[in-house]
Amino acid sequence: MSNIFNAKTGTAASEDLPVQNSDSHWVNPTIKNPYGGGPNTGITLPPYYRPTPSLKNNNVYFPGMEELGDDEMRISFIGSTPIPVTRAQAGTCIMVELGNGKRFFFDFGSGCMRNIIAMSVPLTMVNDIFFTHLHVDHYADLPYLYAFAPWMGRWKPLRVHGPSGRTSRDGIKQMIEGMKMMTHWHTDSFNIMPIGDGYEVEVNEFDFRDDNGICYQQDGVTIRHWRRSHAKDGASAYRLDWNGLSFVYTGDGRPDELTVQLSQKVDVFVSEVQPDTSNLQSLKFGVPTVLATTTIDSAHSLHYAVGYMFKQIQPRLAMVTHTSYDEELVPEIVAGIRTHWNGLFQFGAPDVVVVNVTKDAIWTRKAALPESGNLRQPSAREAIELFDLSPLKTEIVFPNTKHTVLDIQEPFIRDQEIDPKKYYPPDVYREPNPIFPANFKIDMKTMIGEKIAQAVKSKFEGIKDNIQGLKDKLQGE
Ligand SMILES: [Zn+2]
Ligand SMILES: [Zn+2]
Repeated sequence: MSNIFNAKTGTAASEDLPVQNSDSHWVNPTIKNPYGGGPNTGITLPPYYRPTPSLKNNNVYFPGMEELGDDEMRISFIGSTPIPVTRAQAGTCIMVELGNGKRFFFDFGSGCMRNIIAMSVPLTMVNDIFFTHLHVDHYADLPYLYAFAPWMGRWKPLRVHGPSGRTSRDGIKQMIEGMKMMTHWHTDSFNIMPIGDGYEVEVNEFDFRDDNGICYQQDGVTIRHWRRSHAKDGASAYRLDWNGLSFVYTGDGRPDELTVQLSQKVDVFVSEVQPDTSNLQSLKFGVPTVLATTTIDSAHSLHYAVGYMFKQIQPRLAMVTHTSYDEELVPEIVAGIRTHWNGLFQFGAPDVVVVNVTKDAIWTRKAALPESGNLRQPSAREAIELFDLSPLKTEIVFPNTKHTVLDIQEPFIRDQEIDPKKYYPPDVYREPNPIFPANFKIDMKTMIGEKIAQAVKSKFEGIKDNIQGLKDKLQGE
């Protein structure tokens, strides 16, 4: 964190405008408002609020057009509301991408999949989802991902992480078993296609009471969890640490001391927020005020409380999400937060706010999302991970299907199918074959060989002999 400027005490009173030196570092250590305007003009943006070097466009994040810096964290608010889901806001879901190539998801609410697709993330690469708790607004799109990603080529298990509950019925393992039952017809029918282990789920159910326990540690990434007070036992907050950068997401819950203690001086602190405006909500939704106040008082954090927690925690960037982004309420939320907190604050709503974080800089933008963006294929680097490619393994071997239509469909209805010769123009006739071929392979030489070869080469640079072997193989024996 830059210490040339203290946003909290802001003792300087210079009228000087800030200047930037050639490498874009703010150099005036005394100025209160580095963006122009006089001191005490209410601007709370600190000098480290500026673009990181990897950005291609400082105002808009164009999905798929920007490489994340090696030392950088990118946090995208894929979905940002509990209820209602709207065209502007999907159910809560936060994607965290790291400069080491790792990608994590925190919650997976209703409608987040269409924003993930619009963010140009291949469905096959959506994995390692951490659930704060099992309210449906935090997991509604999981069955959809579960059902379709294996068909796209993720033939490996889905990996999910989440808390246990007070009884075995209340934990994430039980929820996943329920999802498997609910999707049985779907998965059974899709098993006429290559699926491999795609419908297996590796469930990391951790003890919800193990406050500050580690629930993930791999590739320099550590993720910890702790309890949140959210109506029922089994709600958690998460903290991710990597490369000296940190991110906390509270999930849902009441303001609490544990979160203050375990989030101290985190880089990006994200809380849920609920404005204390039950009378207004009762006018809008037609529900009695007591319904809203009781919901808040048993389960959620008021805007005042969130500001209070920010002040205790002192993050570099304080954010709120999981809130219906009603423009008439935004000033109220800000006013409540500013009662306590005068540091850097931004909304993680509506969809999709993108935050880039390095040790020197933090920057927020909105993503430009296509209305009908289509599925993106995995990059060469992603394909290596997905299909376990290496210099010695350059073929993509499709798993054999579990069964065929003959096993799961009675002949009667298939016999009712119209003879295709009646609708195919004769010159393009192709005899339908509903059985996927056994032992099917893709030869990379003819597919995406050169790209993959380059990526394999850079990943396995040390293994020179093998690389030579791969080159020979790809250039054709
Ligand atoms: Zn919620
Ligand atoms: Zn909840």
